[in-house]
Amino acid sequence: MSTSDGTLYGASIAKRLHGKVAIITGGASGIGESTARLFVRHGAKVVIADIQDDLGQSVCKDVDPAGQTICYIHCDVTKEADVENLVGSTMVKYGKLDIMYNNAGISGELGSSVADTNFEDFKRVLDVNVLGSFLGAKHAARVMIPAKKGCILFTSSVASIIAGETPNAYTTSKHAIVGLTKNLCVELGQYGIRVNCISPFALATPLLTAAVNMKPSTLEAAVYESAVLKGTLITVEDISEAALYLSSEESKYVSGLNLVVDGGYTTSNPTLSMSLSKFEV
Ligand code: NAD
Repeated sequence: MSTSDGTLYGASIAKRLHGKVAIITGGASGIGESTARLFVRHGAKVVIADIQDDLGQSVCKDVDPAGQTICYIHCDVTKEADVENLVGSTMVKYGKLDIMYNNAGISGELGSSVADTNFEDFKRVLDVNVLGSFLGAKHAARVMIPAKKGCILFTSSVASIIAGETPNAYTTSKHAIVGLTKNLCVELGQYGIRVNCISPFALATPLLTAAVNMKPSTLEAAVYESAVLKGTLITVEDISEAALYLSSEESKYVSGLNLVVDGGYTTSNPTLSMSLSKFEV
């Protein structure tokens, strides 16, 4: 079925990022990969940036063997020259940048107490998760400000809300992302640039399966068990759909938001009721 101007109803509704250009850091795996696939399906031209070159290139080949809609650029987000090159190359190839999704992240070592925390590990987590995200936003802002529009996104975590479940460096880094989101929202709003972040609950991606040394299926069972929302399991696609919403016209007046995708996990603190149930009445 088509409208009078020949636009297919289905096509115009389905392609929510038609004509947009997006960069996704950490796009070779997990949330980034899933979001790259979804954004291409919605009509965007996507640049995947990562340090896993073979994986990034194979994702691109799988999505679009002709390379018309997606490409890979090596970028270590902790290196400013790499990030500058990423944004510059995207501008040369496509002439604009609409969406900058700063998603690359690492967990750091699990289980170490503050007294035993390794200096290099703490610094590396902040470098990738905070500095890397900041550099992405900085170089995106440089091209979005003159365009007087754009969308900057970050991946934070439920660790930006609840404490004690992730390493100190990771919790610190994900709180910092929310602060950065809010600061940039205020600073860049005058240029029509929206800035938001997404806070997912636990997902069985390589970041977490490697950190806890578990098979994805075992980790998913544990996540399901601990979830507040039953009858469904969180997937990377749930986060990609949130990124799609925050990148599309549907959210044109949404800025400064930490969109928590956790099935209500962070609204609950069942510790007392769990303890009470262990005591005899
Ligand atoms: P993932 O390991 O599947 O993907 C992370 C990607 O980031 C990888 O492809 C990796 O190569 C890339 N990366 C790491 N260091 C980089 C660097 N210096 N430069 C460029 N790329 C780099 O994990 P994921 O779960 O998809 O993680 C994506 C984001 O989601 C991270 O910011 C993570 O903190 C966040 N997150 C994950 C979970 C979870 O449970 N998996 C929950 C909440 C938030």
